[in-house]
Amino acid sequence: MDKVLSLSKRRGFVFQSSEVYGGLGSTWDYGPLGVELKRSVKEAWWRSVVSERDDVVGLDAAILMHPRVWEASGHVENFSDPLVECRQCHRRFRQDQLETDACPECGGDFTEPRRFNLMFRTFMGPVEDSSNEVFLRPETAQGIFVNFQNVQTATRKKLPFGIAQIGKAFRNEITPGNFTFRTREFEQMEIEFFVKPGSDDEWLQQWVRARFDWYVNYGIRPGNLRLREHCRR
Ligand SMILES: [Zn+2]
Repeated sequence: MDKVLSLSKRRGFVFQSSEVYGGLGSTWDYGPLGVELKRSVKEAWWRSVVSERDDVVGLDAAILMHPRVWEASGHVENFSDPLVECRQCHRRFRQDQLETDACPECGGDFTEPRRFNLMFRTFMGPVEDSSNEVFLRPETAQGIFVNFQNVQTATRKKLPFGIAQIGKAFRNEITPGNFTFRTREFEQMEIEFFVKPGSDDEWLQQWVRARFDWYVNYGIRPGNLRLREHCRR
């Protein structure tokens, strides 16, 4: 990992954020080559899911949304990880990622787990009280859902059709991963595709196949790709 990191930096792909001030954990800046690469990926994706299809339209929703959006979606209540703290060295961990009951750093024991909400909070306007609290979106999907009616009315689309979006999302991960693989600020490319009840399985299969082929088309070996079953509502 250190080699990849140092190569990415030397060639101008990815730099540690705020490096001259010691760096900010788990945030990364894309350099001259990195930004071109990222733009190319986003443009290729947008072409294949929006420009070249007549059943998907685009959207660019704001990062800040009404707090009630996140109540309705269940994020305020449920978007959390179990956090434990070592009583000796006071390092914090995600309980569900620990393999033992003892602190991996010092062997100390842990506090009882508490639910830690992963949404970043800030305040809208000059008064910092709870009535002005807003969240940086933890995913782009809700911007699509709350605009469904607007988009449908404006475009006169009929089912089945989809809405695509590329944008930043933020999650205050307790333990971010290596390098750019699990970061607290990241960019998502996402489609919500709306279908008539009963045709969902058929459409899901079509999309899974289309997206899988897209990666293979750009040279990724199928053996390096893994399809993951997502839960159904
Ligand atoms: Zn410890």
